[in-house]
Amino acid sequence: MLNNHRRLGAVLAVLIAPLAARAQPIPDLRDAEIKVTKVAGNVYMLQGSDAGNMAASVGEDGIVLVDDEYAPLAAKIAAALKGIGVTEKPVRFIINTHYHYDHTGGNLAFGSQGSTIIAHDNARARLASGGTAGNGGTVHFDMAPAGKDALPIITFDHDVSVHLNGEDIRALHFPAGHTDGDSIIFFPKANVVHLGDDYVRYGFPFIDVQAGGSVEGMIRACEGAMEKLPPDVKVIPGHGDLSNAAEVREYVRMLKDTSAVIDKAIKAGKTPDQMKQEKLLAAWSGKYSNEFIDTDAFIDTLYNSLTHQQHTKYLKHN
Ligand SMILES: [Zn+2]
Repeated sequence: MLNNHRRLGAVLAVLIAPLAARAQPIPDLRDAEIKVTKVAGNVYMLQGSDAGNMAASVGEDGIVLVDDEYAPLAAKIAAALKGIGVTEKPVRFIINTHYHYDHTGGNLAFGSQGSTIIAHDNARARLASGGTAGNGGTVHFDMAPAGKDALPIITFDHDVSVHLNGEDIRALHFPAGHTDGDSIIFFPKANVVHLGDDYVRYGFPFIDVQAGGSVEGMIRACEGAMEKLPPDVKVIPGHGDLSNAAEVREYVRMLKDTSAVIDKAIKAGKTPDQMKQEKLLAAWSGKYSNEFIDTDAFIDTLYNSLTHQQHTKYLKHN
C-alpha cells in the first residue's frame, strides 16, 4: 500500500510539475498494463496505472465505460476490454465521473472512434475551458482545454441512465464534492457502485476547491450514495483497490473528524500556519498522509473548503 502511495505520488507529482515547478521526468506509461478485475455480474474494474479506476459494463449490447484514464493508455484499455472475451462490440458510451485528466484522458481517442461521452454539465464546461485545479494552497495543476472530440456530447443536470446489457446504469450528480461536476455511477443489478474521486484510497483526498469542491459535499456524496445501497455493495473507488461499505464509512469518519478539528481552530481564529505548527491532524497523519496530499496540504484543503475562500469559480448549484 505504501508502495502504491509512493507511485501515485510520483505520477501525480510529475503531472502537477508544470505549475508546481518540480522538475521530474515525464512518467513513462509505455510499460503500463491494464489490470482487469471482475467485480460482479457483467461489471469489471480496470486499472492501468495509478490514475483513476475505470468500471466497465461488458455484455451483449456492447460496452459502457466509466472513466478512461490517461490518453496514452487508450489503445491498451480498448485491447483489455476486448480481451475480456465477452463482446467484439465497441465502447458505445463513456461516462466521466468528473473532469480531471487522469479520468478523462482517453476521451479524445474513444470519442474520435465514435464512443458517446456523457458527463455532468459542469464537468463538460471545465473540460472545454481548461483551467487550474487545486486545493487553494500548494497543490495545483493545469488542464488544457479539451478538443472537440474529447468533450461529452450528452450532459445532464441531476442524473441520467444508460439501459444496456440488462443493467440500468445510472449516473447521479452530487454537488460540490471532489469538484462541482461529480457523478457517482450505480450498477444496481450487479450491485456495484463507482464513487469517483469522492472516495479514494491513497489517504487524505485531493479536493479541487478551485473547481467548486468541498469537504462537506464530499461527505454528503459518500453518505448519500451509500445510503441508497445494500450493505454488501461492491465499491469501486476513484483510486485504489476494490472496496466496501465499511471502508467507505471509515473514510467518511476521518473526513468528519478532521473537518471538526479544523473548523474548531478556524472559529478560534487560528491561521493554517498555526494549525500546521500545532500538528492538529497528527492523529491521522500516520494512516492518511501521502506524497500527493500530505497532512499540511490537507490542512490547507480543509481550511479553504470550510472558509469557502476558493469557491469563487463555482459554476452552478442544483
Ligand atoms: Zn479527480
